[in-house]
Amino acid sequence: MDVTVNPGNVHDSVAFDGLYDRLVERNTEIKAIVADAGYKTPWISKRILDDGRIPVLPYKRPMSKKGFFPPYEYVYDEYFNCVICPENQVLSYATTNREGYREFKSKGYICENCPSRHLCTENQKFEKTVTKHIWSDYLETVEDIRHTPEYKALYERRKETIERVFADAKEKYAMRYTPYRGLSQVTNWVRLKFAAMNLKKYALHRWKRSHQYSALINLYTFFCQNKTHNPKSRLEFRVIRQTEKQLRFAIAFFSYIRLAASDIATQ
Ligand code: SF4
Repeated sequence: MDVTVNPGNVHDSVAFDGLYDRLVERNTEIKAIVADAGYKTPWISKRILDDGRIPVLPYKRPMSKKGFFPPYEYVYDEYFNCVICPENQVLSYATTNREGYREFKSKGYICENCPSRHLCTENQKFEKTVTKHIWSDYLETVEDIRHTPEYKALYERRKETIERVFADAKEKYAMRYTPYRGLSQVTNWVRLKFAAMNLKKYALHRWKRSHQYSALINLYTFFCQNKTHNPKSRLEFRVIRQTEKQLRFAIAFFSYIRLAASDIATQ
């Protein structure tokens, strides 16, 4: 697990680049990037797709004013490079702004007498402006990916994995609130917490692996014993069964002690 700490006024989508660079530098085999709706921006989609990876991003609600036409009512005509409004009027291309959005504007003298104007614009000059990002095609590709069963299933795994890490960080590692001030102090504090979380994850992983192998060895030994040993009498058979039971109990007991000790050490 990796982490970057950014000032509170930096949006998630802006903070994405630093973490993404670090992640793909160390793990070149990454094929898909799963993130929440906050990261569904034209730049992030372009960045991931241009790198030959798959962005798996969820549905994002259109940000239109309540009681007004939703954005999908304004249809872009690629051939004529214009937008058609719900009243079938043409909004012509006007300019591309500094943020990379192409602006399409309606004609005030047409909109002035439009019966749907109250659902469309509140502009004083009766001019409706529709924007479309120059990289909006990337967002459309991301929408197509979102409907693919394979990536739908992959997105579902997000809540089972990374969301649990967030929940643990907040609830068990007291990261809902920081007692420190300043970027450097908070960075040190967060990194220390994540180091502890990583160590715990590593210890549990090691324990699970070693436990799995010891269980396999025990099972193998048990079957070998049963195969080679042919008890001569009922009494001898009972003694063997008794010893087996005691051994199993001892293994279970020591496994529990090990688990409890590792849990205490990591908390
Ligand atoms: S106000 Fe203008 S842009 Fe809006 S629906 Fe009416 S004609 Fe179209």
